Amino acid sequence: MPKAQETLLEIDLNALKHNFDHLKSRLNSNTKFMAVVKAFAYGSDACEIANYLQKLEVEYFAVAFVHEGVQLRNAGITKPILVLHPQAANFKILIDNCLEPNLYNAKILNQFIAVASAENQTNYPVHIKFNTGLNRLGFSETDVDYLSTTVKKTTAITVKSIFSHLAASEDLNEKEFTLNQIAKFKRIADSITKALNYKPLLHICNTSGILNYPEAHFDMVRSGIGLYGFGNSAKENKNFKPIGTLKTIISQIHTIQKGDSVGYNRAYTTDSVIKSATLPIGHADGIGRQYGKGKGYVIINNQKAPILGNVCMDMIMVNVTDIDCEEGDEVIVFGPNATAEALAETANTISYELITGISQRVKRLFVGQ
Ligand SMILES: *Cc1c(COP(=O)(O)O)cnc(C)c1O
Repeated sequence: MPKAQETLLEIDLNALKHNFDHLKSRLNSNTKFMAVVKAFAYGSDACEIANYLQKLEVEYFAVAFVHEGVQLRNAGITKPILVLHPQAANFKILIDNCLEPNLYNAKILNQFIAVASAENQTNYPVHIKFNTGLNRLGFSETDVDYLSTTVKKTTAITVKSIFSHLAASEDLNEKEFTLNQIAKFKRIADSITKALNYKPLLHICNTSGILNYPEAHFDMVRSGIGLYGFGNSAKENKNFKPIGTLKTIISQIHTIQKGDSVGYNRAYTTDSVIKSATLPIGHADGIGRQYGKGKGYVIINNQKAPILGNVCMDMIMVNVTDIDCEEGDEVIVFGPNATAEALAETANTISYELITGISQRVKRLFVGQ
């Protein structure tokens, strides 16, 4: 790999293929795979990633919002796309782009039926979400009769799937809670299927659900973080390869005298002579201020260099006192070895937040395949 000459996020399609193959190996051959590519495919590049996965015969895609789905359509994605959290104001655009809405309560169900009817749609595919314990979005179990009656009254829509979302699939201490969610989902799915007289697809598992609850894969699974290389546990991480490597370079090296300070608000003051390196990456690139003041670090020549003082908008300064390095050297912020998960932990957050936060001004470079 050529050395980085600026800040860039390198995305390894071979690693993506490895992760997809691994996830598939955990499924029955007839279980469908929905690739979750919301939030720029977790901060990578939704169009590139979806195009690649479309060639690998992923059955379904999911995004959070309508405009994310429109971008995929404009980039040549022809597979079905579920919009997990659509807003009614965008329903016409959703229909114009053949996107499929999650309908999660009576209000949005009726709003969608009204727009679909006005657009002369028949059997428009929709997905019905049930709340089984996350208490975020979804109909409740007591809505089953209302829902089936409403759906049967209109020809505008057809229920393509019934789904729910697990609250703590990665946490085995919450196994009982999760099994309860799964049991509740089964009950709901049974009664809806009976009432509708046809069989929508059923799905409840995200990545950790796939890994920890093989009995709950139903007809389809929805994976995001696993595709991008994280298994959410030390044991499962071994089966995955992080697809993203965030790189930058050293712009300038300073020798800082004892008692001098580094950066804004003089947040770091030395008690001995140190060597600092200034890097062209800051909070506007997704390295938040919570990584500053010695919590977060980068890797230079295989050694950890902690962040000195406050993170600036476009720069950080790191401590390279004991690292043999010079201006222009490559710096790894995270990658397959120094993982985004480990860096996120230093700021009390999770890989999901760090990787989805890498801003659009960071250049993406695709490698592999
Ligand atoms: C984001 C999301 C997923 C993907 O979860 P991962 O843990 O990244 O696999 C699945 N389902 C829903 C409803 C989501 O919002």
